[in-house]
Amino acid sequence: MRARHVLGSTFFLLTMACFNSQWGEAKGEQQRAMVRAAPPQLERIASTGAVTPVTISVHVLATPRYTAQVVDAPRQFQEAVNEVNRVFSGLGVTFRVDSFAAWETAEDRVETALAALESKEKAGPLDLHVGLLGSLPRASASFHELGYATLLGHHLVLRAPARADEVDAIERNLDELSAEEREGLVKGRRKHRAAALLLHEIGHTLGAIHDDAAPSVMNPAYANERSGFSPQNAALVEITLRHRAAKEASSSELARDLLASLDKVGSGGDFVAKDRDEMRALLTSLRAPTTAPSPSPSPTVASADTSSSANANTAPPATDEDLRELAAGDRDTYRRVEALLTKHEPAAAWEAGKALFASRGKSFTVQDLKCRVAMAAFAYDRAIGECETLTKLTREGLHK
Ligand SMILES: [Zn+2]
Repeated sequence: MRARHVLGSTFFLLTMACFNSQWGEAKGEQQRAMVRAAPPQLERIASTGAVTPVTISVHVLATPRYTAQVVDAPRQFQEAVNEVNRVFSGLGVTFRVDSFAAWETAEDRVETALAALESKEKAGPLDLHVGLLGSLPRASASFHELGYATLLGHHLVLRAPARADEVDAIERNLDELSAEEREGLVKGRRKHRAAALLLHEIGHTLGAIHDDAAPSVMNPAYANERSGFSPQNAALVEITLRHRAAKEASSSELARDLLASLDKVGSGGDFVAKDRDEMRALLTSLRAPTTAPSPSPSPTVASADTSSSANANTAPPATDEDLRELAAGDRDTYRRVEALLTKHEPAAAWEAGKALFASRGKSFTVQDLKCRVAMAAFAYDRAIGECETLTKLTREGLHK
């Protein structure tokens, strides 16, 4: 299985306090909320060495659902590409959209759509193939599966982000502002999201992996505070681009340089540990000269699902101390779910734990169990969404 990475998005919620204060204060408060909700400009990557100008040829296929959902789809895609080009301009890289065509595919899951795109469109070293899919139904979840890319590959898939909910929230909560102000906020956020999602997936094709820094576009969840590549991911991207610009056939030299860059960061930095370890394993296998070099390297690694379910099943059981915060009934449920997980019955564990997971959203212990069950029961893309509650608790904890 190819190494793939998925990007999800946390739901945008404009939380506004109720106003019982004096007339006029609501408007000031809403203006401050507007400033907070406005995304930052995406930062350019600074080059660490000599720059060789390189143009990457982008070929886009858009499904009819995508073009029905996105007004003037080619123009909006170009707008995102322009932002990406600004970010990459310091490295001398230009992404040029050479074709934008209709894609008649029955695939609607990002994983299978990416596989279909890969087998349909062969890529040269300076090509990028992009598949655009319709958005998920609005009612699906509070976490959207928005994109997928081949790590160190040449293909990526993006969904049209359905943001009717966001427009509603802005209309409802910022009603004291002018229509122009609200529209400007909606547009600014839409533009930022489209560019950040594209950057994230392009990042994966250039060897960037997830990190959990809040401003990083390689954070696994989208948020409007994402502002650019972290230095350690920028280093990986620059190395891959330099190799591609030189049109080298050997992937082992690229793997060697990427490994050296990863090892320089070591266990410090903000890389997500699991991703870093998988990347290191992938690069180590690519560096080995035992396999004949292929013109378009197709890295293989163990499936993320397998390794995470193995981790989930070998985690030590919770101690009584860990469960002290829970009521007796919840503690029994916790133990039952944990036992099912240990017996390798993740589907039954999920069923048994669902109600507990939902009712104890603030409990780290419970949300940690939920995430482990999800990792064992579901594919990576769904599991990472189910783990979002845990990720949030962890982040809040770190900020205290
Ligand atoms: Zn990703």
